[in-house]
Amino acid sequence: MGSLMGKTALVTGGSRGIGRGIAERLGRDGAVVGVHYGSNRAAAEETVAAIEAAGGTAFALGVELGVPGDAAALWAAFDQHTDGLDILVNNAGVGTSKPFAEIGETEYDRLFAVNAKAPFFLTQLGLDRLRDGGRVINISTGLTHAAVMPELIAYSMTKGALDVFTRNLSKLLGARGITVNTVAPGIVDTDVNADWLRASDEAWAGAAAMSALGRVGTPADIADVVAFLASEDGRWVTGQWLDATGGSLA
Ligand code: NAP
Repeated sequence: MGSLMGKTALVTGGSRGIGRGIAERLGRDGAVVGVHYGSNRAAAEETVAAIEAAGGTAFALGVELGVPGDAAALWAAFDQHTDGLDILVNNAGVGTSKPFAEIGETEYDRLFAVNAKAPFFLTQLGLDRLRDGGRVINISTGLTHAAVMPELIAYSMTKGALDVFTRNLSKLLGARGITVNTVAPGIVDTDVNADWLRASDEAWAGAAAMSALGRVGTPADIADVVAFLASEDGRWVTGQWLDATGGSLA
């Protein structure tokens, strides 16, 4: 029997990339998984089908994040499927590859709206659904602890806000036995990096060399860390920033 049998999880951005890896892993561990997506319904349905094919239970829910009313809309969709939550994974996020000088206010606001504001209000409005002993797991980035990609300055700032959210929220929710942690990936092979990471063997080798382990991260690498935090074994870990960069910051 999986360690998360009887639990319900919601993974924002669970349809693709790291979120899909997390959703599949939590589903394998026995949780009923809400697979959230923004606009790509087909990807979410594919992820749900993969979870079900592995013997799990999942449902898809699509809500655009980073717009007014997003959190309320997401919980309204969630409530149509189930009545309680044990594990909230704030994973959905967006980046930008524009140079510092070219990032305008609209783009800056959008980055903060999706990466920092949406997790804040999604968690706030979800608290009456989140059961005592639950988990909040925020997906950040190693870039909040080292300026190795300074061109991602605005993106990194949004995730820095998420890191601060994690620490403070852990104190606010601890009395209910709810743990709150950040998992910080390094470079992971997902769609968001495909343009440059898969552009040449040199790009791939350069990314792999950033990790102490000499390879590029996979969604499963991150999902396994999330699964530990979500499990009973993770009960005494809270308010933490977990480096899941494969030693890129070592
Ligand atoms: P990805 O492959 O681009 O997938 C993003 C997921 O988030 C998709 O499910 C997408 O849904 C959803 N999403 C994005 N913007 C949304 C919005 N405005 N509203 C609703 N849903 C939205 O990304 P990823 O690489 O897996 O990254 C996942 C998380 O890890 C992000 O927070 C990212 O910042 C973080 N991270 C990634 C890396 C990396 O190297 N990949 C490294 C460090 C941290 P749709 O497809 O339907 O839009």
